Amino acid sequence: PIPEPMSLNDVVEETLELLQKSIPRMIEIQKDLGPNLPVLVADRLQVEQVIINLVANARDAIESDNPGTIRLKTRAHTDDNGQAWIRLEIADTGGGIPEEIQDRIFDPFFTTKGPGKGTGLGLSTVYGIVANHGGRIHFESRPGFGTTFFVDFPVKPGSV
Ligand code: ADP
Ligand code: MG
Repeated sequence: PIPEPMSLNDVVEETLELLQKSIPRMIEIQKDLGPNLPVLVADRLQVEQVIINLVANARDAIESDNPGTIRLKTRAHTDDNGQAWIRLEIADTGGGIPEEIQDRIFDPFFTTKGPGKGTGLGLSTVYGIVANHGGRIHFESRPGFGTTFFVDFPVKPGSV
């Protein structure tokens, strides 16, 4: 990565602007951007790539012509070891991830989308980017109710 200091909230806003055209009108985008986040030191294009891939998956999870919501939330938190993190949550009201495939979704080329629709590379790319930044990612999914991805980027010492 080529790291530079940035505001995660700014990157979220800019990326959503970029994605606007690819989101059906039936899908509502909600933003809950935390105040006073620490500075994020990261590769900006790669952070954009994370947001693009997760929002595209959230969109795809909401069946076309159905209403649904994608919510992007940012906040800072400190874990039990005293490490501070900048968290991005992307939640959708889509169909959820079936239990049987949950351990495979980060695998390269794993897709449940039809030929020409999915490459199966989105989440493996996201995983690699997050790992290269010393971050981590996990998700919670309830089939029938939706999915939330949680991405944590470490706060670099001295960058607050
Ligand atoms: P692709 O989107 O090309 O299929 P991804 O790596 O982005 O590849 O995702 C892999 C698979 O994980 C998807 O095909 C889908 O089955 C599942 N998935 C990812 N995100 C979601 C989500 N938000 N809701 C439901 N399923 C998801
Ligand atoms: Mg995808």
